Amino acid sequence: MATIPSFSSQRALEVLKNIFGYHHFRGNQEDVIQHLINGDDCLALMPTGAGKSLCYQVPALVRPGSGVVISPLIALMNDQVQALLGLGIRAACLNATMSLDALKAVENAWVQGHIDLLYITPERLLTARCLSLLKRSPISLFAIDEAHCVSQWGHDFRPEYLGLSELQRLWPHVPRIALTATATSTTRQEIEERLQLKKTFVSSFDRPNIRYEIVEKNQVRKQLVQFISEKHTNESGIVYCLSRKRCEEIAAFLNKQGIPALPYHAGMDAQVRADHQYRFLHEDGLVMVATIAFGMGVNKLDVRFVAHIDIPKSIEGYYQETGRAGRDGLPATAWMAYGLQDVLQQYKMIETSQGDESFKQKARYQLNAMLALCETASCRRVQLLSYFGEVSTPCGNCDVCLTPPELWDGTQAGQKVLSTVYRLYYQYHQRFGAQYIIDILLGNQTDRIKEFSHTALSTFGIGKEYSKEQWNSIIRQLLAQGYLMVDFEGYSTLALTERSRALLKGEAVLMLRQESILLTGKSKNIMP
Ligand code: ADP
Ligand code: ZN
Repeated sequence: MATIPSFSSQRALEVLKNIFGYHHFRGNQEDVIQHLINGDDCLALMPTGAGKSLCYQVPALVRPGSGVVISPLIALMNDQVQALLGLGIRAACLNATMSLDALKAVENAWVQGHIDLLYITPERLLTARCLSLLKRSPISLFAIDEAHCVSQWGHDFRPEYLGLSELQRLWPHVPRIALTATATSTTRQEIEERLQLKKTFVSSFDRPNIRYEIVEKNQVRKQLVQFISEKHTNESGIVYCLSRKRCEEIAAFLNKQGIPALPYHAGMDAQVRADHQYRFLHEDGLVMVATIAFGMGVNKLDVRFVAHIDIPKSIEGYYQETGRAGRDGLPATAWMAYGLQDVLQQYKMIETSQGDESFKQKARYQLNAMLALCETASCRRVQLLSYFGEVSTPCGNCDVCLTPPELWDGTQAGQKVLSTVYRLYYQYHQRFGAQYIIDILLGNQTDRIKEFSHTALSTFGIGKEYSKEQWNSIIRQLLAQGYLMVDFEGYSTLALTERSRALLKGEAVLMLRQESILLTGKSKNIMP
C-alpha cells in the first residue's frame, strides 16, 4: 500500500514545483527538508552542486516565520538574494556593504514579517543590535552555510563561527541546519560538537562526471597549455596557483599562447577582481588563473576543468576546488601537475608557520594524505572517497584506471636513498635535503659535497643508473609511502621513519609507480 504523504511533505513538494520549478527532490533533500519541517536540527554534508540551498529554502517557506541564513560571503549572499527575488521569494540581506537606509528598510520589513529569507554574515548576526532585531519576529529556521568554517581542523576556519553555538541557547525551539561540502570525519565531528547537532545526513561525495588526472610536473607551463588546448579548447576553466605573483604570470602566459585568461587573487584591486569574476561568469571560454581566494560561492555550472599547478595543502581543499568543475553534470576534468620541490616547499611552509605543534601535526597529516593521493597506483576516486569515509570500487574515469601505471620493484633504489640518509646522520650527525642526497647518489662532485668530504661516503655515486628526475620521483614515493619523512630544523631535510628499517633490512618490498613522463630518454633503464 502506498504511504499517504503527510500534509507538510505535500507542501514541500508544492513549493519545489510551484516556486522553484523542479519536479523531484534529489538525493537526501527530501529527508533533510522533512526533518527541518518537523522542527529538528541537523547537519547536511553534501558535495558541491548537490543542491544544498533548497534544503533550507523549501522548509523556510513551508514553516511559519522567516528563515535566517548565515553565510560568510557577501558576494554569494547577493547572488542568492537576487536569484530568490527572481523567483518571487521575499529575500533580503544585511551586510557591511549596504547603506544605512538600505539596512533600515530591511530591518523594518523584518519586523513586519515581510521577509521569507534573510541572509546575514556571522559577525553581524552576533551583534547585540542584530540579535534584538531578530527577536522581534518569528523565525522558521536557521541555516548555517559553509559550516566547516567552525572547524579549526578544516581549511577555512573563521573564529566568528564559534559564536553560532549561541543560537541554540537563544532560540531553543527554532530548528537549525548546518551545511557543508567538506566531510572528513574529523571536520564532521567538530561541526556536530561545536554546534551541538545530533543528526547528520551524508550524501555520497562522488562526482562521477569529473575525471581526475594527476601528472608529474616537468615543464608546467607547457604541460598546462597542452592540457587545455588538447582537451578543453574554448572552454571555461580555473587554474589554481599558490601565489599571487604566479597567478599574474600564468594568466599573462596563457594569453600569449592564445588562451584567454584572467588573474584573480586577494591582492588585486576589489573593482578589478569583481570585474574579472563577472567576466568569468558571463563570457564563454575564459580561464581564471586564481589563488584559492577564488571559488567559494562562485555559481558557474559549466566550468569544464579545474587545473592545479601547485599541490593543494589538503585533500579537503583539493576536493573543494576540483568540485567547482562540472556542476552541470556534464564531463569535466580535474587536472594537476606536481613535483617534489612543491611538496618539500609545502612541508617547509608548515614548519615555518606561526601555528603551534598540534596545528603543524594536522597540516603534515593533511599534506601526507594529499601526497599519497598523487602517488597512488590505484584508482584516484577510490582513494579520494575513502578519505571521506566512503567505500567504492575502481571508477574507470581517472588516469590510473584509464592507463594504469606500470609498477616496478624499487626496493633496491629505495634502500640506496635510505642508506644515504642513514649514513649521513650516523656518520656525520647531519641531515640533508633531497637534492643533496640525489647529488650523492649520482656521484656529483658539487662544492658542498667536496667541502663535507662526502665523496668518501660508501653510497657516493651508487645511483647513476637513474636520472635526477627519477630519483625525485623515487623520493616522493618514499615520502608518500612513509619510508621517509621531512624533518625540519630550519631546513627541509630528509629523515628516516619507523618503517625505514624494514626496507633497509630487506624485509619489505617497495613497489613504485613508473611515471609516464619518465618513460622517455634515460629513464628506459628504470625498470630492472
Ligand atoms: P550546492 O550549494 O550544494 O553546491 P546548489 O544549491 O547551488 O548546490 O544547487 C546546484 C544546482 O542544482 C542549482 O542550479 C539548483 O537549482 C539545482 N538543483 C538543486 N536541487 C534540485 C532539484 N531537486 N532538481 C533540480 N535541480 C536542482
Ligand atoms: Zn579510477
